[in-house]
Amino acid sequence: MPRILDGNRVRDEIKSELKPRVQALVSTGRPPGLAVVLVGHDPGSEIYVRNKIKACHDLGIFSETITPTDSITTEELLAIVNGLNARPEIDGILVQLPLPRQVDTKRILLAVSPRKDVDGFHPCNVGALVAGLPGPRACTPAGIIELLKRGGIPIAGQRAVVVGRSDIVGKPVSMLLLHEHATVTICHSKTPDLKSVCREADILVAAIGRAAMITGEYIKQGATVIDVGTNRLSDRAEAARIFGNSPEKLESFDKRGSLVVGDVNPVDVLERAGAYTPVPGGVGPLTIAMLMTNTVASAERRAG
Ligand code: NAP
Repeated sequence: MPRILDGNRVRDEIKSELKPRVQALVSTGRPPGLAVVLVGHDPGSEIYVRNKIKACHDLGIFSETITPTDSITTEELLAIVNGLNARPEIDGILVQLPLPRQVDTKRILLAVSPRKDVDGFHPCNVGALVAGLPGPRACTPAGIIELLKRGGIPIAGQRAVVVGRSDIVGKPVSMLLLHEHATVTICHSKTPDLKSVCREADILVAAIGRAAMITGEYIKQGATVIDVGTNRLSDRAEAARIFGNSPEKLESFDKRGSLVVGDVNPVDVLERAGAYTPVPGGVGPLTIAMLMTNTVASAERRAG
């Protein structure tokens, strides 16, 4: 059986390391502060935001949620972001995506002060990542590096293949792996013969958004497989096929009416990988842990 890279364990480790840093900030002035802007009532976004606020509460980080209606204009949202930029007790600003169609998302993300950009999405911070300068790193990619390092997976000199080139996951994780001295190949929907490229990977990162697309034929025997995907299956027959008719999984499907699966086939990965991240319980828990890390680091920087 391959080794499980346990995201819940690593998240708890990171949170317990953050607690004394938060206490030190409190004792010298004030707790770190995170403002979350949640526009409208997207159910997925509401769950993400609730979990982020809960993590703040657990760590003693001050948090504030601003909930404009989904009819908000770009100008009105810009005014909210500018107000948060000016508030001294706010160290991190997170604008939960996706935003309504009428809002210019790029303008909003550009308006967040780079000093308070705890998502690491601002072009200044993307530039810092590429140049290897200090600054907040995008949360999910930073979490992947933590999982690898704390899981004792060597990165330097390894061949890493990243499937997906999004600004949120694929590009930043590729850059972080490069900084850790992996030899990195980035693949996408136009990559020919994806299977052979993936089979060269010592570390294979799947950030695609396609349920169980990465089957055994894509995985070199013994590779470390990082599954970023979170795809909800609501077709029972598809769930049965992907989970090899696992009675436990089908029971869970019947209870909830759906199942979450990653981008990697959950049965094949057990046969081929040397280590892997399960879905759920792998990469997912790290995203919020790294958001907390970025918020604390921003507060420390701003406190001088
Ligand atoms: P995205 O913006 O939709 O990007 C998907 C990437 O996959 C694109 O670069 C696309 O290529 C590539 N792709 C799509 N189909 C492909 C195919 N058949 N062969 C090869 N490449 C293909 O997605 P994302 O935001 O990076 O997210 C990816 C997945 O990670 C999603 O399931 C998302 O829910 C999940 N996610 C999880 C977390 C977490 O905390 N666990 C955080 C973020 C995202 P092109 O560029 O050519 O279109």
